[in-house]
Amino acid sequence: MAHAGKTRLADRVLAFDSSGIRRVFDLAQELEDPIDLSIGQPDFDVPAALKDEAKRWLDAGFNKYTVTQGIAELRERLRARYEADGIEVGDVVITSGVSGGLVLVLLALLNPGDEALVPDPYFVMYKHLTNLIGGVPRLIDTYPDFVLTAEAVEAAVTPRTRLLFVNSPANPTGATLDEAQLRAIAAVAERHNLVIVSDEIYESFQYDAAPVSVARFWPKTVILNGLSKSHAMTGWRLGWAAGPADIIREMIKVQQYSFVCAPSFAQKAALKAFDEPTHQARDAYRRKRDIIYDGLKDRFHVVKPSGAFYVFPEAPGGDGAAFAELAVRNNVLVVPGNVFSDRNTHFRVSFAARDETLRRGVQVLNSLA
Ligand code: PMP
Repeated sequence: MAHAGKTRLADRVLAFDSSGIRRVFDLAQELEDPIDLSIGQPDFDVPAALKDEAKRWLDAGFNKYTVTQGIAELRERLRARYEADGIEVGDVVITSGVSGGLVLVLLALLNPGDEALVPDPYFVMYKHLTNLIGGVPRLIDTYPDFVLTAEAVEAAVTPRTRLLFVNSPANPTGATLDEAQLRAIAAVAERHNLVIVSDEIYESFQYDAAPVSVARFWPKTVILNGLSKSHAMTGWRLGWAAGPADIIREMIKVQQYSFVCAPSFAQKAALKAFDEPTHQARDAYRRKRDIIYDGLKDRFHVVKPSGAFYVFPEAPGGDGAAFAELAVRNNVLVVPGNVFSDRNTHFRVSFAARDETLRRGVQVLNSLA
């Protein structure tokens, strides 16, 4: 017999919603040709050589499951790459993007009630995924400069703390951490035996200094990275996790019963990605960073981003959601800060857009300030 009653859904999905970002996109639906500064992916296409390589493997019939941990030659290539940087990685697993790596690492590390330290503002998955699997996200406020300090980490540790997220360069703030800051954070992790989950997806978009991995200073670090941003391959779902062998082993086990493997052709094409230069994209995005920062800095309180492709200005009037709505009504799409934070004082501008689009966006935003 059919039941007409309300479907009972799991508490874990009812505990959060995505209304903040959805409201902006609902409003945006009504716009004809919006100035879109909300995008979290590069405005260039996948390099032609990588597309050709992917096609070659598709035509060659490399279309079946791969081994769960990913193809050996790619894992070896990544291990060699980290070793050349002075980072000993115990093992490597190829994942369905960094998102896939995040799912695996949290399932491998957190028991219900265990705490994960999340610097706020944060990339959305850190908080919500931790909640989803029964962990407890402990937010560390990094306003107003968005620099995570060792002191703030130390103050947030409790006996239930298991891991700390580090994201340098960061989404949504564009902040980066230097060697001294990372060394200090690593020392706190060592003192409390915390695993660091280091999301390095914006590694190739660091503008004013060379990127540094915290894994150099603390071996219990799981590095997450991938080709979504560096090679504009967001739809190919290709990432990896590199870190201590005992953690990676459990992540592979979870992958076996969830994602199974990362896309086969993308794994083969990824081998070629490391021959593709990323400095032109970095130089182009440094220019975009300058257009947006120089354009907004006189009218907005804004920290100059040193990486990624976002700026996170303070909203005039102090209400990020209201300002994002005002911007959308004026044809500019930006994302309210409360999507990425417990605070609603800021908004996120993505500069992954054409220079001309950025200039038009700056003009409208300034007119609203
Ligand atoms: N981490 C951060 C900080 C991101 O900004 C994103 C994409 N917005 C991801 C992870 C997810 O990347 P992927 O496409 O590799 O899953």
